[in-house]
Amino acid sequence: MKVIKFPVNPFQMNSYIYYDENSGDGVIFDPAVYFPEEKKKLDDILKTNNINIKKILLTHGHIDHILGNRYSKNKFDVDIYGNDKDNFLIENAVKQGVMYGLEIEESPAIDVILNEGDKLDLKNTELRIIHTPGHSPGSICYIDDNNKLVFCGDVVFRESIGRTDLPGGDYNLLISSIKDKLFKEIKEDYILFPGHMEETTAGYEIKHNPFLN
Ligand SMILES: [Zn+2]
Repeated sequence: MKVIKFPVNPFQMNSYIYYDENSGDGVIFDPAVYFPEEKKKLDDILKTNNINIKKILLTHGHIDHILGNRYSKNKFDVDIYGNDKDNFLIENAVKQGVMYGLEIEESPAIDVILNEGDKLDLKNTELRIIHTPGHSPGSICYIDDNNKLVFCGDVVFRESIGRTDLPGGDYNLLISSIKDKLFKEIKEDYILFPGHMEETTAGYEIKHNPFLN
């Protein structure tokens, strides 16, 4: 399995493609492309690597992660997966956009609701879902135990954590989601692929993240 990261939109949010190099089958996390050149870059990445996107996976419902939902759903014609506790954000995509001066399209609804303990079969591996609220009520992490990695959205960043001042945010709950949930579910050598900035590992954050001490 291979990860391709490409930061997109005015928020520089990390979208990720996670795919099997042999079959070309893969999934895309938070495909929030905004500018025409980003849409072209996505096309180029998919074409160059012969990738077929089979699922759209959402880490949560904030605008910088969902503003490409309509475009991506039309383009890939696959189901959108996510947790329904962020439906209030997804349903308000247009309003969320206005707050930041962005004109965006209405988001399609989540097709498949993912809850704690659910598993997604990716043929060569699987992703298991844990619910990690606090940054938003419907934030989830996608863990691949075979390849020791996690797509964690805006739950935890390198030496930082997700903001908790947006609707439904809860600081204490977020800290608990990271320390008592995520870091209990994975080992220290697991790589974290966050929604912003660079990758890190659980072990590095346990030692160096100032919010977790
Ligand atoms: Zn967010």
